[in-house]
Parts: sequence; C-alpha cells; structure tokens
Amino acid sequence: MGEQDVEFVKMEGFHRLSSLWKIDYRVVTVEPFLTQAVTEETKELVDTILGRSLPKGKDLPDAVPLVIGDRAVVTGNAVKGIFRHIISSQLTEAGVSVCSQRVKYGEKGSPPSGRAPECAPDKPCFVCTWFGTASRQGALYFSMLRSVEGVERILVSDPIPLIALRDDYRAIEAKARAFMLLAPVKEGVEFRGWIKGENLSEEIIGAIKEIQDMSEKGFVHFGGFKTRGFGTIRMQILKVERYRTVPFGLERTYEGDELQGFLKDCQGKYHGLLSRGKKQ
Ligand SMILES: [Zn+2]
Repeated sequence: MGEQDVEFVKMEGFHRLSSLWKIDYRVVTVEPFLTQAVTEETKELVDTILGRSLPKGKDLPDAVPLVIGDRAVVTGNAVKGIFRHIISSQLTEAGVSVCSQRVKYGEKGSPPSGRAPECAPDKPCFVCTWFGTASRQGALYFSMLRSVEGVERILVSDPIPLIALRDDYRAIEAKARAFMLLAPVKEGVEFRGWIKGENLSEEIIGAIKEIQDMSEKGFVHFGGFKTRGFGTIRMQILKVERYRTVPFGLERTYEGDELQGFLKDCQGKYHGLLSRGKKQ
C-alpha cells in the first residue's frame, strides 16, 4: 500500500493565496426529486401548497423537499458528498491512491479494497486536498442549491404513493404504514448554486466537468429514494471566474465558447491524472 503514489498538482497551501475561483452552475431535475430528513413544519407547508389532496389515513406527506424561505434547497454539504464520492470512486478504479476516512472503516477495521488508509495530515491525497477531511479544511466550498422558482410552483401536483420498504422507513419514521406518500419536486425544475475554491488546479476543475458529463447521460443522482427512480439530475457549469489575490480583483471570466475550451483543457488534465493510475 502506498508505494504507487500517483503525482497530482499540489495545492499551494492555505498559508498562501494565489488564486480564487467561482464556478456557477445549474442543476435541472430529470426525475422527480426529494431531499430527506425534513421537519413537520415543512411537511405542513407542502401539504398546504398541495391543497389537502391527501388520501384517508394520511395527515401529511411522508417525504417532501427541504425548503428554506420559499425555495426548495439541496444543502452544499449534500452536493459536496456526492461529488466527493463520484471522484473518489473513479480515481480508485483508475488506480490513483485515494484514502478512506477512518470514521468510515473504524479504528480496528481496514479500508475497502483499493483504498488507502486515511492520509496523514501533511500528505493529503487528491480527494482530501480538495474536499478536506474531518480535521483539515478543503479548498472547495459548496453553496446551497436553490430552486429558481418558489416551492409552490415546482412540486408535483399529486403526491406519489409508494409501497414502503424497510429501508424507506429508516429514512422516514418507524410507524406501521402500508405505503408512503411522497411529495417531490417535479422534473424539469432548475436549481442554481456555485462552488468556490482557493488555489484550484486544472485537474480538480476537470474532475467537476467530468461529473457534468456523467450527469448528461443520467448517472448523477441527488436526494432520497434514488433506488426508486428519484433524483436523477443534469448539471451544467455556466460560468467560471478566476480572481487574482494581490491585489484582489477579477482576472478572467470564462463563458460560452471560451468556457467550453477551458473546461475541455481542464478535463484533459484530469484524464491525465486518471491515466497515470496503476491500472493502465
Ligand atoms: Zn485522503
């Protein structure tokens, strides 16, 4: 383990700020979409919007989107988790050393096959460098993703009943109900958000572009009930801004054709990293 470390472009460190980045992006739901673990209050709000169309025996829908203000929201942390997972598993398949966090495999356990043990703080792997660890901040910051339209305009018009499985109950609440009622965001709904970063490399920007490409083919899912067909999204990077730091100011904005060219170059760098993995 660890002898086949693959070189990647290192981050200069947090003590030295050489560039700041802002990546604006949009997410459009391809399938109905739900976030989990919401409050009773949100269920009541959604119930009011739906206009009391619930069948007998149901006071409130079992699952509704997370709502903040009047917008459906995906937390930055949730987006970060999905991006981290996709990039980690792709690098692992390519044979690029990626660690597994100790909290996931425990003090006495060992990391899953193909993964290195948690990296030392002074020698972070590619994923820990950009996404951080429990004890060390990363260089990427994910905003909340907010629906462009108010929640009253983006829900499915009728809640969707589903036969409840044991796993679903864990996510909802342990009441003996024969079915669940889901009130998801409908398909074709747009969310907007951004990713900010310090001293980003072209490789990590290319990795984010890689996720966009996977999403275009339907392989990226957000939220709950994924195995029941919910949560497929399409992601699109809209604009990348690069700021210089001394003195602070906008250095370059990539949009349109220029953006596509820049992302293609970055993705080439990321593919270079993948190809340097031991599995070639
Ligand atoms: Zn690591």
